[in-house]
Amino acid sequence: MPPTIPLQGYYAASARPAPERPRFQGARRADFCVIGGGYTGLCAALHLAQEGAKVVLLEAETIGFAASGRNGGQIHTGHRKDQAELETWLGPVHARDLWTLADEAKAEVRGLVRAHAIDCALKDGLVIAAHNEAMARALAEDTEHLAGTYGYGLARMMDKAEAERQLGTSVYPAARMDMGGGHLHPLNYARGLAQAAQDAGAELFERSRVLALDEDKAGVNIRCADGLVTAGRALLACDAFSAAIAPELAKYIGHVESFIIATAPLGEALNREILPCDAAVADTRHVLDYYRKSADGRMLFAGRESYWNVPSDVPALVRPRMAHVFPKLADVAVEYGWHGTVGITRTRMPHFGRRSERQLFAHGYSGQGVALATLGGRLMAQAALGHPERFDVIARVPAQPFPGGQLLRRPLVAAALMWFKLVDSIG
Ligand SMILES: Cc1cc2nc3c(=O)[nH]c(=O)nc-3n(C[C@H](O)[C@H](O)[C@H](O)COP(=O)(O)OP(=O)(O)OC[C@H]3O[C@@H](n4cnc5c(N)ncnc54)[C@H](O)[C@@H]3O)c2cc1C
Repeated sequence: MPPTIPLQGYYAASARPAPERPRFQGARRADFCVIGGGYTGLCAALHLAQEGAKVVLLEAETIGFAASGRNGGQIHTGHRKDQAELETWLGPVHARDLWTLADEAKAEVRGLVRAHAIDCALKDGLVIAAHNEAMARALAEDTEHLAGTYGYGLARMMDKAEAERQLGTSVYPAARMDMGGGHLHPLNYARGLAQAAQDAGAELFERSRVLALDEDKAGVNIRCADGLVTAGRALLACDAFSAAIAPELAKYIGHVESFIIATAPLGEALNREILPCDAAVADTRHVLDYYRKSADGRMLFAGRESYWNVPSDVPALVRPRMAHVFPKLADVAVEYGWHGTVGITRTRMPHFGRRSERQLFAHGYSGQGVALATLGGRLMAQAALGHPERFDVIARVPAQPFPGGQLLRRPLVAAALMWFKLVDSIG
């Protein structure tokens, strides 16, 4: 079982208040039962309710409690795997369909924020920063490929001097500025989606953990401690936690802890010097640094990953990475530190599929779920309503099990992480 995570740090402290939602009790019939109140589940519930369906959403904790309420807030272009790799692996047609969906995912975030007036400090601009010369060349090639093959015109390379001007650090030999990407306050976004789903007629329940589900002629029976929902279809949106109710998925969905700190507001002078372009930044390491400034001028810096344990002192773990990139922040006060569980797949592509005709799942966005889970929810809803074509573009990506079986999976994934750290440090 993934570790339990009690804190959402700065986001919980700065988010707009959310209404208390009831715990699910009793017995109820619904057209659809959505399990999980992150972006995937909330967007699925929103779209189903907008189509006039009777929807019940069950969340084990509170809305946005897990990855959707504690992530880096970065909106990425494409998938975690490069388009060139996808073309080689899956062929040019399937790769193009995946690109089209990922591009639509960013538009979906912006469209939902606009349509539902979600106050989540949404901004354009995402920088991918090369951590060495080899990655600078690879990034330039990828940027050219996206422009030439997909007509993507929103990204351009910056040389070392421009990267330094835009980011306020000299550690990168080159970087890509992508105005199609962006960033937002993740918990406010989740809470805004929840409100939109509720306004559309979905019933949202919190502290209502699903313990088991099974099927009979009546439909899918979804059991919580104090209640039973019988639904025509169930939509599983539990990401890293899916295996607890769908054990056969365990081999496909891994999880790592990622750690984030928030400094005190930087003040006017530092704010001008540090990350003046105000984009979100992710570097090209396997175990990457990713960071951005918050709307109130703090540095939100994330780095390091862990598979085994969660250190009690998150700031002590992350601060050295921040000080490496921004030496001027070495002594700045850090006011929050938190962590979250990232659902990952072996292929680093999302894993969508069906447990049966009546049960769909979507998870494993591998660190790119702000946009992809938003769209994933809509695609799962469309599939549940009888339009599976676009859901199946992702479901057709061959899933690969993590090696090692139940006993060896954890040590093998941990060893792989250590290997990636070593490769990064050599780079
Ligand atoms: C620290 C961190 C940083 C990240 N940074 C970024 C980033 O910058 N950009 C990006 O694109 N992506 C990022 N990600 C990934 C992104 O946050 C996720 O891909 C996305 O939020 C997944 O959304 P989801 O709804 O599928 O899952 P989640 O948000 O994890 O939601 C699943 C929900 O299901 C609930 N649940 C689980 N089991 C049950 C059950 N049995 N019954 C009822 N409910 C249950 C959980 O409580 C949870 O609320 C990050 C993730 C983390 C953890």
